[in-house]
Amino acid sequence: MDKNNITKEYSNGDITVVWQSGLCIHSGNCVKNLSKVFQPKTQPWINLDNATSAEIVEAVGKCPSGALSIK
Ligand code: SF4
Repeated sequence: MDKNNITKEYSNGDITVVWQSGLCIHSGNCVKNLSKVFQPKTQPWINLDNATSAEIVEAVGKCPSGALSIK
């Protein structure tokens, strides 16, 4: 595996979002679709507390590369 491919998990106690950096093509879709959750300039860059689980699942489903998934 590419040493730059890190996997991070973010949970709101209901769902867990998995982000695999090596798959991310930086299309920005997630940021455009749900900017209150996906904030590339903040740390951590995914803040699940800012939206409902349904909104998050919908935005994750629009990631074109599969970098984002729900566990
Ligand atoms: S939508 Fe997916 S591929 Fe695009 S920036 Fe977000 S995580 Fe990366």
